[in-house]
Amino acid sequence: MTKVAIVTGGTRGIGEAISLALKKMGYVVAANYAGNDEKARAFSERTGIDSFRWDVGDHQACLDGCAAVADRLGSVDIVVNNAGITRDGVLAKMSFDDWNEVMRINLGGCFNMAKATFDGMRQRGWGRFVNIGSVNGQAGQYGQVNYAAAKSGIHGFTKALAQEGAKYGITVNAIAPGYVDTDMVAAVPAQVLEKIVAKIPVGRLGHAGEIARGVAFLCSEEAGFVTGSTMSINGGQHM
Ligand code: NAD
Repeated sequence: MTKVAIVTGGTRGIGEAISLALKKMGYVVAANYAGNDEKARAFSERTGIDSFRWDVGDHQACLDGCAAVADRLGSVDIVVNNAGITRDGVLAKMSFDDWNEVMRINLGGCFNMAKATFDGMRQRGWGRFVNIGSVNGQAGQYGQVNYAAAKSGIHGFTKALAQEGAKYGITVNAIAPGYVDTDMVAAVPAQVLEKIVAKIPVGRLGHAGEIARGVAFLCSEEAGFVTGSTMSINGGQHM
């Protein structure tokens, strides 16, 4: 049976590139989204990929959403936890809500999606999780204690779940992208971005497709011996 992949936040930016890369590999893809229905519909018409709306930070919504995907497409064999937000600010200006919302979506989303899908993968003896972390979760970043903590948490979550999944044929890996040319980075002020790019040895922002190719490898049959690892795709921007 053709394997089914859910890509959270899969209708734009890095997520869109991942959805397309997995489709190209022959997987059936379900692209989750939380925002604009019209844009999601346009994405589905353009790509032939079904889109499903739910909030990954909501535990029950993940259970219902994953059940709806399995109903329509057959099963859930691969989960790419890509959905993420930023709510930047220095500590003094960061509200409790900014902290909680970033933890709820970026890190809580990975937990909720695993809770909804791990058992089915275990029963079928095969599964792939790829969690999108960040160079800023590895190195920290000024004005991002919430985002850096959530992304750093993703890297720990990945290593721990990998140990649980290994004996069931389930691999769990992370990708830590550097700065990639998407809407998320378009929100960074131009002068700040210039300084960031100056520190990237390759001398440019990454492209979404460059992250997607890493995800595609980790989701492949051939990557069965890779688990608990973090692939850094960052133009050489090491800490
Ligand atoms: P983006 O803002 O373009 O896309 C984020 C996606 O997440 C959107 O599709 C959005 O609808 C979805 N999303 C947000 N909240 C959601 C929720 N509650 N439920 C379901 N979906 C939700 O960002 P992007 O740059 O494509 O980033 C994708 C991932 O890569 C994020 O996890 C981000 O943190 C990570 N990342 C991005 C960069 C970068 O430079 N762009 C660098 C490192 C890591």
